[in-house]
Amino acid sequence: MTRPATPLLNDARARASRLRRALAQALYPPVCLGCRRLLRASGPHDHGRTEREVPLCSRCAPELAELPPEARVVDGVEAVFAHDGPLRRAITALKFNGQLELAGPLARLLARADCVQGAPPWDVLVPVPLHPWRATWRGFNQAAVLATTLAGFLHERAYARVDAGGPRDAPRTPVALPGALRRTRATRPQTALRRSGRHLNVLGAIVARRPDALAGRRVLVIDDVTTTGATMRACRAAASQAGASRTGGLALLRALS
Ligand SMILES: [Zn+2]
Repeated sequence: MTRPATPLLNDARARASRLRRALAQALYPPVCLGCRRLLRASGPHDHGRTEREVPLCSRCAPELAELPPEARVVDGVEAVFAHDGPLRRAITALKFNGQLELAGPLARLLARADCVQGAPPWDVLVPVPLHPWRATWRGFNQAAVLATTLAGFLHERAYARVDAGGPRDAPRTPVALPGALRRTRATRPQTALRRSGRHLNVLGAIVARRPDALAGRRVLVIDDVTTTGATMRACRAAASQAGASRTGGLALLRALS
């Protein structure tokens, strides 16, 4: 591509991205993540219009559970909100009622994390794996849906910056690798265990399925909820064992126990 064509290309990208947004708006009108009530397109109670705002109705918004600053990053794992209130309800609806339409807005909230700002310092986003039985029973892995949607959103955001007159070359953004890790055995849900049993429960239960895809890469492990961080630790250990050059973790919610 020659230089004079770039403004045209950027213009085409900007139009395509506006069209995508308009289509998404028509197909998936903004709803409250806490109660699924339709949010008005404009007006004082529309909380979903900007990236910094959480799409919540005026009834659910006051219940939004922020994390205290000291609980945001723990042991290399960042979380965005506390596991409570409307976002806890949204994750439950995604996981147990299969409301996949919530994945987009929830991944958008993940994109607020400090560890994925600017040119995110990660090559791959790897979801915490579910045991195949549980994945079959549920039909999907919510962490994989979040990781894939987040990767698409980070890519889109990088190009939106180019459209807005930023640096001509968009930064490279991480790609999602949903099948990079796998569980070797079914583990009991971490929430059913005491804190001390959680580490042993997942120890050795997670391995790299594709070590070649992780070797030499900067790996960010993605999950919907983190509690003690034991599962994240097991995933990061498996990535390191496969040769990852750096590992980190990002979860939407942190359960404060
Ligand atoms: Zn609501």
